[in-house]
Amino acid sequence: MEDYTLVLNAGSSSLKFCFFRRLDEKNWEVAARGQIEGIGTVPQFSVRDAQGAVLVKSNLTATVTDGQSAIEALASWLRSKWAGARVSGVGHRVVHGGVQYDRPVLLTKQILQQLHELVPLAPLHQPHNLAAIEAVFNRLPDVPQVACFDTAFHSGHSQVANLVPLPSNLCKSGLRRYGFHGLSYEYIASVLPEICPDIAKGRVIVAHLGNGASLCALKDGKSIDSSLGFTALDGLCMGTRPGALDPGVVLYLFQSLGLAAKEVETILYKQSGLLGISGISNDMRDLLSRSEPEACLAVDYFVYRAVKEIGALTAVLGGIDGLVFTAGIGENSPEIRKRICVASSWLGLELDAQANASGGPRISTQQSKISAWVVPTNEELMIARHTWLLLGLMQPVS
Ligand code: ADP
Repeated sequence: MEDYTLVLNAGSSSLKFCFFRRLDEKNWEVAARGQIEGIGTVPQFSVRDAQGAVLVKSNLTATVTDGQSAIEALASWLRSKWAGARVSGVGHRVVHGGVQYDRPVLLTKQILQQLHELVPLAPLHQPHNLAAIEAVFNRLPDVPQVACFDTAFHSGHSQVANLVPLPSNLCKSGLRRYGFHGLSYEYIASVLPEICPDIAKGRVIVAHLGNGASLCALKDGKSIDSSLGFTALDGLCMGTRPGALDPGVVLYLFQSLGLAAKEVETILYKQSGLLGISGISNDMRDLLSRSEPEACLAVDYFVYRAVKEIGALTAVLGGIDGLVFTAGIGENSPEIRKRICVASSWLGLELDAQANASGGPRISTQQSKISAWVVPTNEELMIARHTWLLLGLMQPVS
């Protein structure tokens, strides 16, 4: 019987998955990858094989109403397509591991309970990640599940980088900076030696620019600092989150505008950032195609914040050897990369316009003092690797 591993990345309105088939002791291949999008509105199921050929594109309105039913629909489809396949493990993306989980963990019901306590630290993501784990416990109780945390890659930050400078007694309960998008950064760090060997051991800033956006400062492939902190609200301007904000603004919302905590949470997680500034969209593609001044201002602010934070992390690293762009915007938008690189030319970065337009991987000129790159991320593969290693389905690379 063939062995398979399922990777799940469950969000508020989407369930992304990747299904891997074991080839031999060391190698796995992608059998299918896809997603159920629009959960809660108009759920659409789409699946492609490893070559990108469409396996499924269908509407699931009749069967999928929430995360649990999305898992049911995915499990039924997998069973119909791979009847009799043995699923030897399920790997999950879990946004927050708190202080305790600084590496992937084999899940038990008790650990799941502990992870629920972290929901207030990531209200937009954590409940959905955990609901998927619960659903797999119910549907496939004998299949081992592994949680891979977005915070784990940042667990080596210095005490000073992690500090939340409030009274220390308040911080004892885990109030500190964690950093996120760790699975993406860990993947990028793992491929740098192959794609850009000259900078892999040096000082690199990785810009994960998607709907959620952050920067990570890498030294010798290890995370030194990140623009995201205690929650996924800090740092860069994001699709619907503001990024760094004077905490006095939050006090003002409570005290002067009389808003309730839930209303403030909704504003901060769902109504700010690109969407809030533009009043049009949280989607960068949309905004770049519009001419309204509000759309232009949103894009300008996104670039401004990214450039400012690159400067800050350059100071933390004591200089920089390379800048890497990844995720939806970082991988696909030559315009945003150009604006960020041009505004960062003071670092000695010289953009190669043609290479940038064609997507790299190297997008800086040969004489540029620091190099710039486009490297596609692969969080699913990172989760799969952790799952295989933890379940003994793959030998560690020596
Ligand atoms: P997340 O995984 O955080 O939901 P993604 O990494 O998929 O987000 O990135 C989504 C963002 O990438 C959206 O703002 C989308 O508009 C943007 N994006 C995708 N393709 C392009 C493109 N060609 N040009 C500009 N932005 C793009």
